[in-house]
Amino acid sequence: MTRLVIVSNRVSKPRETRAGGLASALNSALNEHGGLWFGWSGNVVSDVPAGVSRERIGEIDYALTDLSESEYSTYYQGFSNRTLWPLLHYRPDLLDFRRENLSGYRAVNRRFAELLAPQLRSDDTIWVHDYHLIPLGQELRALGIKARIGFFLHVPFPSPEVLMMLPGHRPLLKTLCAYDLVGTQTDSDQRALCEYSGREWGATCDDSGMVSLSDGHRFRCMAFPISIDPGLISRNADLARTSKAHRSLVDSLSGRELAISVDRLDYSKGLPERFEAFAHFLDSYPQHRGQLSMMQIAPVTRGDVPEYQELRARLEQLAGAINGRYAEPDWMPIRYINRSFHQANLAGFYRSARVGLVTPLRDGMNLVAKEYVAAQSAEDPGVLVLSRFAGAARELTDALLVNPYDADDTSNAIHAALEMPIEERRRRWQAMSAHLRQHTIVDWRESFLDVLLDS
Ligand code: UDP
Repeated sequence: MTRLVIVSNRVSKPRETRAGGLASALNSALNEHGGLWFGWSGNVVSDVPAGVSRERIGEIDYALTDLSESEYSTYYQGFSNRTLWPLLHYRPDLLDFRRENLSGYRAVNRRFAELLAPQLRSDDTIWVHDYHLIPLGQELRALGIKARIGFFLHVPFPSPEVLMMLPGHRPLLKTLCAYDLVGTQTDSDQRALCEYSGREWGATCDDSGMVSLSDGHRFRCMAFPISIDPGLISRNADLARTSKAHRSLVDSLSGRELAISVDRLDYSKGLPERFEAFAHFLDSYPQHRGQLSMMQIAPVTRGDVPEYQELRARLEQLAGAINGRYAEPDWMPIRYINRSFHQANLAGFYRSARVGLVTPLRDGMNLVAKEYVAAQSAEDPGVLVLSRFAGAARELTDALLVNPYDADDTSNAIHAALEMPIEERRRRWQAMSAHLRQHTIVDWRESFLDVLLDS
């Protein structure tokens, strides 16, 4: 293979604390062939950012640039987090569109391209990640880059009706045509892109995902559902059984069951609806009061964005109200934790939970759902309750699929999970576990790169 160049907003070097499955799959691809990873350093500087700082670790070059305060505010906080993120997650009610943020977004993509272009070789294969960098491919083309460039969208590609609410959606999305391959999480995202391309560009889209424009230009658009390393998670879950964190969790349950949820504190994850559904479950099935605790791990992200501050306040109020209403001297319904945990610890927590409660209102994929399944034991697997609106629901069809807006549905599924006979738990888990072993994060990376190299 040619040299691989990865471009993403944030860069994850090996052995960084928050590096998950994606970071290690991309790092291992870069290590195999030698490669370059370009992106934002995570630093914000008060004046105009200097060029690129480079660091080599193993076979990989990391090329990082800072953002100025105004770039951070317009490109990152503004257009990426307060315009694109809500819109792509079907929340136009939260859309905050400002023209200066769109300009800042376009300018940062241009600056990234200008910094990256001189570092490129003619035989490179370039892989751009996610909604922060939609126009990057076109900016590179404008600078004369002829290499193969692929783009993967980690979040949903919504229905054209939703996308068209974005002022300036047409010139922005047209930049996708500069890529040789656009990857989406699910078939339904891919179909939405095809439908958009027909309505807005008069393009046609064939069964192989080839999008053809009237001027003869073509590019490919296909679904590549992202995944995890199920073997690693299963080994971590085995190992965690002897860890202190895991033992103290199990001790604290005193033989009661646990339902676990792990999400960044984000409005797309449906946390208030989940808390309400759990309260509704305690009302509908009072026999489970005192018998099941729900543990919500919700590390705070984007804490400087007002919508996230409001959500946090609302959850604190809800968790307090539900605990105040239902708690007993020796039992608390909701354990609400705002810190993050290492994946190895999470694997142990998943293993000890009878129910995995994963109910986002909208999610590109949702890796926690897959991790929960991978962490279960074959003898005594727990049950996944999964939102229909997570990309993962298209693959994990043996989960109990629910509508997260329907508290009855979620509450009934929690009840069904607790009552489910062991044979049915095993049957459902085996089907999902086999699927995950056949579709790992390494398969995902390789299939995307194979199609890109073929394009
Ligand atoms: N995660 C973690 N520690 C935490 C919470 C989450 O390592 O305390 C990881 C989790 O294991 C998963 C990822 O963060 O791999 C979240 O991915 P997901 O697709 O579920 O949601 P996203 O945050 O990308 O929207």
